[in-house]
Amino acid sequence: MPGWISTPSSAGCDADWVQNFGQLVETKQWSENLTDIVMKLTNGIRLSVEDGVRLFEHPNLYEVGQLANMAKVSRYGDHVFFNSNVHINQTNICVLACKFCAFRRSKKQSDAYDLSVDAYLEEMAKYENLVDEVHSVGGLHPDWDVEHYETLIRAAKQQFPDIAIKALTAVEIKHLSQQSDISFKETLQRLKSAGLDSLPGGGAEILNDDVRQVICNGKESSDEYLEIHRLAHSLGIPSNCTMLFGTIESVHDRVVHMDKLRKLADEYNLFQCFVPYPFLPDSTRLPEAQLATSNEVLRTIAVSRLMLDSIPHIKAYRMNIGDEVAELALNFGADDIDGTVRQESIMHLAGADSSLNYDIYQMAKLVEDAGFIPIKRNTTYTTFTTVNVEPPKRPRRLNVIA
Ligand code: SF4
Repeated sequence: MPGWISTPSSAGCDADWVQNFGQLVETKQWSENLTDIVMKLTNGIRLSVEDGVRLFEHPNLYEVGQLANMAKVSRYGDHVFFNSNVHINQTNICVLACKFCAFRRSKKQSDAYDLSVDAYLEEMAKYENLVDEVHSVGGLHPDWDVEHYETLIRAAKQQFPDIAIKALTAVEIKHLSQQSDISFKETLQRLKSAGLDSLPGGGAEILNDDVRQVICNGKESSDEYLEIHRLAHSLGIPSNCTMLFGTIESVHDRVVHMDKLRKLADEYNLFQCFVPYPFLPDSTRLPEAQLATSNEVLRTIAVSRLMLDSIPHIKAYRMNIGDEVAELALNFGADDIDGTVRQESIMHLAGADSSLNYDIYQMAKLVEDAGFIPIKRNTTYTTFTTVNVEPPKRPRRLNVIA
């Protein structure tokens, strides 16, 4: 299968994308109240927070989507990226109780669990030949400290050296640093030395502390989320970033959230991917949530693409938005879709019914059905491989007549 190699900062992106974008936008007549935004983008000028709010309020969703799609195509052509991964949640026991969370359990609940290191490795072993990334996030376990995770990550790396470990959200890093009474930086350094490859982006929710106080009281503050990712980047650990929308935040909050992330991305260029996902209400305790329609999901993805000029990839997180909306999102600015995801709990307990356990050919078919060329990428977006929709046929064997 043909492929190519990139660097974490260029991440597979066409270096001439601004020029490509200029040529693409000339092919369409834009609404009068979008022309200044189109002009800014064409000249490589960063959109302001006010521009972002206007994009959210623009009456023609499809026009915003078309602009975002051009921003994507100018960077990646017809390529859409996916990864071959499994989610293993090491524990659902958590000392916090975020209102939007359907996953956490207290230690005494009958369905609470915590995987021992051996049990975790057994889970990984089931997927050893199927995936090249394990995505592990979980609750804030009252008894686990950084040493526990050093042991876990070292053992996983030793047994499965070809599987990248993307693990531990910012709040888990904060929790481990408190448990072990060390700084965020030392926590990250020790985990990196043990073999941690990258951080997932979970836990950003909305980077507004008033909103956080309502939906996830006790979690890391907005500044702590940003600081932990900043420190990770300074140590050469790439990370993703997320946004949970459709709870109680305003459109302005969403755009300010994006603004904070892109400014941090400017510092080290190691935010790889932005993953916006809507709140799913099943089994949660947030009746005041506004919830997001599919149109709003598509608009949020489109605005992300246009606002986040320093974060290369925008993900359609099919675990949360489902395959159908994820396919549409690939035409609204998303260039990345997650992934084979052999198993997943967090979104499914909150009401998601997206398909699990895809192989790379099913993922390729999904991407191709949306009109794009499927490309399998590694965790850090540095190696890319074209995937044909059909699995390679086994060579025919001739019967041997004795
Ligand atoms: S979102 Fe994370 S920190 Fe919050 S309750 Fe759930 S598992 Fe715990």
